[in-house]
Formats: sequence, structure tokens, C-alpha cells
Amino acid sequence: MRYVSTRGGGNPRSFTSILLEGLAPDGGLFVPERYPVILLPELKAMRAMSYPQLAFALLSKFAGDIPAADLEAMVNRTYTKDIFRSEDITPLRTLEPGLHILGLSNGPTLAFKDLAMQLLGNLFEYVLAKEGRELNILGATSGDTGSAAEYAMRGKKGIRVFMLSPHQRMSPFQTAQMFSLHDANIFNLAVKGVFDDCQDMVKAVSNDAAFKTKHRIGTVNSINWARVAAQVVYYFKGYFAATKTNDEVVTFSVPSGNFGNIYAGHIARSMGLPIKRLILATNENNVLDEFMRTGRYRVRKSSEVHATSSPSMDISKASNFERYVSDILGGNSTRLNALWAQLGSDGSFDLSGDKFRDMIAATGFSSGSSTHADRISTIRGLHEDYGVIVDTHTADGIKVGLQYREEGVPLICLETAQPAKFSETIQEALGREPDRPAGYENIESLPQRFEVIDADAAKVKAYIAVRT
Ligand SMILES: *Cc1c(COP(=O)(O)O)cnc(C)c1O
Repeated sequence: MRYVSTRGGGNPRSFTSILLEGLAPDGGLFVPERYPVILLPELKAMRAMSYPQLAFALLSKFAGDIPAADLEAMVNRTYTKDIFRSEDITPLRTLEPGLHILGLSNGPTLAFKDLAMQLLGNLFEYVLAKEGRELNILGATSGDTGSAAEYAMRGKKGIRVFMLSPHQRMSPFQTAQMFSLHDANIFNLAVKGVFDDCQDMVKAVSNDAAFKTKHRIGTVNSINWARVAAQVVYYFKGYFAATKTNDEVVTFSVPSGNFGNIYAGHIARSMGLPIKRLILATNENNVLDEFMRTGRYRVRKSSEVHATSSPSMDISKASNFERYVSDILGGNSTRLNALWAQLGSDGSFDLSGDKFRDMIAATGFSSGSSTHADRISTIRGLHEDYGVIVDTHTADGIKVGLQYREEGVPLICLETAQPAKFSETIQEALGREPDRPAGYENIESLPQRFEVIDADAAKVKAYIAVRT
């Protein structure tokens, strides 16, 4: 399996050679030359597999240049009961026949990003050791992504993490999650400013090519190919858990922001997993829902982005979306370049003139959006009807998913975070706090390790320079 850029530039590359990269050199995203296809006998064998066995079977198709025994060892070290608090890794809860929740949020930071990030930590450490290299990860976070990265990279050889977060602006729970890490390779920098200041500082450092090379600066954002590949696994796992035979089809509903999670579902479907529909759910930041309904993709200005009660879906543009557009255009990189050039100049493009409906229908996508009031009533309704408490993001997915529910087709709603992370909204909906998972009861009272820093890129450079 080799990887090429959506924009058509450069030569095909191997999995490990793109592992530590962000954008392709021509500004595009790396995608496989073609998706591997799973035929029925293989699908049949997969049904009996444990999560790590399934992960190994699928990831070997994407990471062909890692020796099988090494990949298997990494996968076995990653997907353990110890880390994900369940033998199933992604347990399926059945609310009633044909309606399920796939639990993706049982990892260390209680959100689905752990499923990919925990593997990434092991893959990075492995490839860096092989090449005798080091990597200094610089990131900005308003909560979820930063903590998932820190928990994945803590204690890893050859890796340091410098994570910028807005000082005193994250929830006490999120702050405690990150700042209670005491590993020598994790550096929490609380920036006197807002999240945008943190992001600007990362950009300023990344734009200094000499500094970047000298200090081996890298990132772990959601466009990383290995993260996407790791997410394909739970679509297979969820399918097998919700069905008895491979003749059945299912529908997934996916709370979406940067289009990483649902794009993995699109890959699973393209590989031959019997998925009828992929339902894309957004919150008030409905860039993607608008595209699916109208064919128009319009990036939002940061002033247009709503701060919602499902904050991990508050996006202005969807960083993985280019990969999907490349697919529906049949890999036509000339066309894709033109669209992204237009996006750069006009802030939008429009595919409604193409056989848009057919292109979207061929990929099985449907979409919808939800509001704060929808989240509240969904959380309440599920609690009353089934006695479960779901988080706000999961509620967005369930609300839209139920609109498309079909007789005879199991609906699998992806649970992307634990309610304990968003207790304020749970309190508003149910008048009580959600229970915290074991081990997180007193997280706010653990000793914290962080440094406060001015919102100044020169300060962060100086900080990194003396530690790398
Ligand atoms: C990141 C995140 C999402 C959005 O996932 P994408 O892959 O960016 O579409 C949804 N819910 C939660 C809780 C998240 O952390």
C-alpha cells in the first residue's frame, strides 16, 4: 500500500515515510493509492476476532512496510483492557432491538481520540527509534486533542510534547487531566490568552523553517493518516457486534467536526463493510451538513464559529474533508486543485452542478445538524427511555441518527465522549451530575505541573530551545 497526495504532486510514499508528516509537500493530504478490498471469506474470519486481532488484520493492509510481528506487538500493547477499561475495547450497548451505542470513549482521556492516539504514540516511538531520530511535538489545545496527545506520548522515548492551552480557560476537569501528568517529556504551557493565541503561536513557530528543522518540531493533528487508519477498526468491530451474519447491513451515525471519524467509516464502507448509510451529524457549526444538503462548501470565519455545548465539533472548516472530496471526484487532482484554489480566494466552492446527489448517494452519506435545545432534549429522552446518560456530542449524533432510522437496519450511534467531561450540560438536562468513571473522582485535587507563559511566539521558542 502506497500513499499519494490528493493534489497529485510527488511520488508514492510508504506508510512509515508519511507517518510523521502533516500535509503533503504540495499542500494536499496523503491518501492510499486505492482502498484495500475485504472479500466475504475474510469478513467471515474477522467476525470471530478480538479487537487487537481485528486491528492487526486491518492495519497490516495500510502499514505494509512495518514487519508483521512488530505491528502485531504494537497493536497488542495498545488495545488492552488496562488502557480501555473493557475487554471489548469498544463495547456495544443495545438500547432496544436495532438501536445501539458503540462506546468509543473508554480510553484514558474519556474521548474517542484515544483509540487512534494511543496507537500513534507506539507507532511514533517505533519509527523514531528505527531511524535514530527525535520528535518535539508542539500543539495548541482547548481541551480534548491536547490531552489525548499527552496521554499517548507520555513516557515515550525520543518524543517530547509541548502543549499550549489558554490559561484558566479550560474546564477544571480538562485542566486537571492535562496538568496532573508529571512525565518528564510532557510540558504544559498555560498561555495568557485565548485558544486562538495558542494556535497563532504554533503557526508562528511552524512558519520558522530553520527553527522547525533545528528543533525537530512536529504535530499530531487530525489529518495524520495513521489516526484515520486506526479509526477504521471500530467500524468493523461495531458492525460485527450489532449483527449476526454478514448478510446484514447497518447504519452508523457520527458526531462530526474535522471529518476524521466519519471519513474512517467511509473507508470501511469502501473496503466492503456492509454499511448502508453514514449519517453525518453536526452541531450549530453546520459547514458539513450544509455541503451534504446543497453541494456548497463554505468555510466559516472564526468570528462565525459558535461556541456550543458540544465544543469538540466547533469548527470553521473540516481538515479531513479534502480526502472525501478527492474520492467523490474519482481522484481527479486537477479538479481538486482548482476547487481548493477557489476555496483560498473565495472561501467556498460549489459542486451542486455536478451530479452531486448521485455522488453523495454513492457514498451512503446523509446529514443533519442539532442545537443546544436538541442536545438537552435528547439527553433527557434517552435518560427517561433507557436509563442511559450520554454526552453532548453523542447526543448530536443520536438526534440526527434517529431522524434517518429505518426499519430492519440496525442504527449504531458512536459515543465520542463520556458525559463526565461535559457535566455542566448534563446538570442542565437532568438536574444531576453524571457519575465519574472509577479513578477520575478526585482528579481536580491531584498536584498539577504547568508553566504560565505570555502569548508570545518568541517565548515559546526560547522555552523549547533550552529543552531540546
Ligand atoms: C474530535 C471530536 C469529535 C469530532 O470528530 P472528527 O473526527 O473531528 O469529526 C466529536 N466528538 C468528540 C467528543 C471529539 O473529541
